Amino acid sequence: MSPRSPAALEAAHLIDRLERLARLGEDEPLNAAQWEALRYLARANRFSRTPALLADYLGSTRGTVSRTLAALEAKGYVERVPSARDGRSVELALTKLAEEAMKRDPLLALAEDIERATGDGAAALADALRRTLRHAIARNGGRAFEACFSCRHFRAGVHASPRAPHHCALLDEPLSDADGTAICAENEPAAA
Ligand code: SF4
Repeated sequence: MSPRSPAALEAAHLIDRLERLARLGEDEPLNAAQWEALRYLARANRFSRTPALLADYLGSTRGTVSRTLAALEAKGYVERVPSARDGRSVELALTKLAEEAMKRDPLLALAEDIERATGDGAAALADALRRTLRHAIARNGGRAFEACFSCRHFRAGVHASPRAPHHCALLDEPLSDADGTAICAENEPAAA
C-alpha cells in the first residue's frame, strides 16, 4: 500500500501527531481510553449508548471496553440508567462529574488550534476528514457513527412539536434538534 501523493502521506503523519498531542495537558484522573469513552457517550444519541456500540465505535474488544466502563463507574463518571426506549435494558449515561470534566476536555484545545489555523475553513477540513474516515471504514469494515442529520433516514421538520420536530424513518422515533447533531450507530450516510 503506497499513496501516490506525498502530501497525502504528510497529512496522515500530521493526523497521527495531532492525535498524540491532543492527549497532553490532561489534568483529570482519566486515561486516554476513558476520555474516548466519555467523548462517545457525550455525543451518542439515545439509540447508541450501550457498551457493545461503544466497543464498535472505538474498534475495541468488549472486554477492554467493559474494564474501561467499570473504572469510569468506580470513579463516578458514568452510570447505568433504564433505557428510554426499552425499560428492560439499560443505557450508559454521563454523571454531572463527567459533564464538568467534558468542559476541560483536552480535545477542546485542539479544536481551538484548528480554528486558529483554518479561520473560516474548519468546515471544509471537517468535510475532508469525514470523507477520509468513510474510506477508512469501507476498508476496515464497521459503522459510520456520523451525525444524525447526515443520515438518509433523517426527516427534517416533519412534526409540529418544537421539542421534537424531526423524525427517524428507520426507527420510527421523533427527534429533537439535539438529536440531529448527535452521532448514531444506525447512521447510513445520505451521500458518500
Ligand atoms: S435518522 Fe439515522 S442517524 Fe438519526 S436516529 Fe435514525 S437511524 Fe440514527
